[in-house]
Amino acid sequence: MFDKILIANRGEIALRILRAAKELGIATVAVHSTADADAMHVRLADESVCIGPPPARDSYLNVAALIAACEITGADAVHPGYGFLSENARFAEVLKDHRITFIGPKAEHIRIMGDKIEAKRTARRLGIPCVPGSEGAVTDEDEARRIARDMGYPVLIKAAAGGGGRGMKVARNDSELGYALATARTEAKAAFGDDAVYIEKYLEKPRHIEIQVLGDGKGHAVHLGERDCSLQRRHQKVWEEGPSPALNADMRDRIGGTVAKAMSELQYLGAGTVEFLFENGEFYFIEMNTRIQVEHPVTEMITGIDLVNEQIRVAAGAPLSVRQEDIRIEGHAIECRINAEHPTTFRPSPGTISYFHPPGGLGIRVDSAAYQGYRIPPHYDSLVGKLIVHGRTRNECLMRLRRSLDEFVVDGIDTTLPLFRTLVRNPDVQNGDYDIHWLESFLKTGGLEEN
Ligand code: ADP
Repeated sequence: MFDKILIANRGEIALRILRAAKELGIATVAVHSTADADAMHVRLADESVCIGPPPARDSYLNVAALIAACEITGADAVHPGYGFLSENARFAEVLKDHRITFIGPKAEHIRIMGDKIEAKRTARRLGIPCVPGSEGAVTDEDEARRIARDMGYPVLIKAAAGGGGRGMKVARNDSELGYALATARTEAKAAFGDDAVYIEKYLEKPRHIEIQVLGDGKGHAVHLGERDCSLQRRHQKVWEEGPSPALNADMRDRIGGTVAKAMSELQYLGAGTVEFLFENGEFYFIEMNTRIQVEHPVTEMITGIDLVNEQIRVAAGAPLSVRQEDIRIEGHAIECRINAEHPTTFRPSPGTISYFHPPGGLGIRVDSAAYQGYRIPPHYDSLVGKLIVHGRTRNECLMRLRRSLDEFVVDGIDTTLPLFRTLVRNPDVQNGDYDIHWLESFLKTGGLEEN
C-alpha cells in the first residue's frame, strides 16, 4: 500500500479523496494555488504545497510543479480526482517515469477513451452497443451528407476530443449540415485544439444512463449498476439518481453484464463510467469516462461500496474487495449538484458565504468544501457542494430530499438550491418521467418562476 498520496485537485473531490486515504491510514498531501490557501482541503491534509498562481494552467494543471511537490513531500502516488489532469494520459506516463503511481487507469486506456472516435471503435469491438454514426472522423461535406442521408436526419456533429458537453451541433436537414459541420470543427479546434469531428444519429428523446465499473487491471471487473443523469442543462448533469426509474432488474443485469465483460477483456484498472443513451428499450454507447465522477456518491449510497477506497487499493496492486455476486443495489439515491449560480439566469455568483448550514439526519450526505466565511474564488468551477440523499424507496428518497433541501441554508451568494426545491416538487420528476431535454424545456417555459 502507499505511504503518502498527493491529491492533485481542489474543492469537494479533494476532501473526498483525503477522507478515503485517511481511512486507509495513508498520509495525505494537498496542493493548492494561491487563491486556495485557505481552502478546506489544505487545512485537513497532513501537508500542503503551494503550486502556483490562481489560473489552473499555472497551478492545478502544472505538471512540473506537481512532480516537484511529490519529490519534496515524498508522495508515492497521485490521485487526480475529476477534471484537471484526471484524463491526461501523458500525466500518467510522466508520473510513472518518476516512479510515482497514478491512481487511475492505464495510460493506454485513458488515451483510447479520450478520443471518442477511438472509444466507439473499441466499444464496438468489445460488444457494447453504440449510437449509429460515421465510422471515423468526417471532414468532407459531401461525405457528411451521404452519411446523414443514409442514417436519416436529425444528426449530431460531435468533437472527437469533446468533453463537458461542448462542441456538439445538431443538423436537421441537408441545408443545416454544412454550417453545423463547419461550426463544430471551429469550436472543437478552439476548445480542444483538435478539429476532428464525427457524426452520430441524434436521438430525440433518450435518457442518459451510465454504468459504474471497477477493474483490477488483471482481467477482473465488476459493474455497480447505473445512474440516471438525464436531468441536464447545456448537456451538463444537474440531478443524478440510481437506480434509474426507467430500468428493471433484467435490463440492468443485461447492460451491466455486457459492460463488466468488456472491461474484463480490456483488463481495465480502477474506476470508470460507461455512458449510454437509452431510448425505446435500447442502449447506445456515447463515451467512457476513465476517472471518478462527480456523481459517484449515488452509487456508493446504494451499494455501500467506497469507490475511492477501491481506486486506491487496485492502483496499489490489491484485488477488488468485491465480487459481482456480492454487489447488491439497496434503496434509492439522488444527488443534487448545488452551484454558486443564480437559480434562474445561471449567472455565476462567486463571493463569500456568510452563513452555511447543511442538512443532516438519516440518509443524508453532503460532499462540500464550503464553510461559513469561505470565499468562493472566481477561477474554478461553481460547485458549492453535492447533496446526496438515500431512502429505502424512491418515494422515501424524494420526501427526504425535499425536507433536506428546505433545511439547507447558504447565504451571501446565489445558489441553485431554489431550482432543486422546485424540481423535487414537480410531478414529472416525482414520476421519474423525464428525458435529456426535459429540464431545458422546463426552464424555457418558465417552470421555475411559476412555482
Ligand atoms: P461530453 O463528453 O461533452 O459530456 P457526451 O458524448 O457524454 O459529451 O454527451 C453529453 C450529452 O449530450 C449526453 O448526456 C446527451 O444529453 C447529449 N448527447 C450526446 N450524444 C447524443 C446523441 N447522439 N443524441 C442526442 N443527444 C446526445
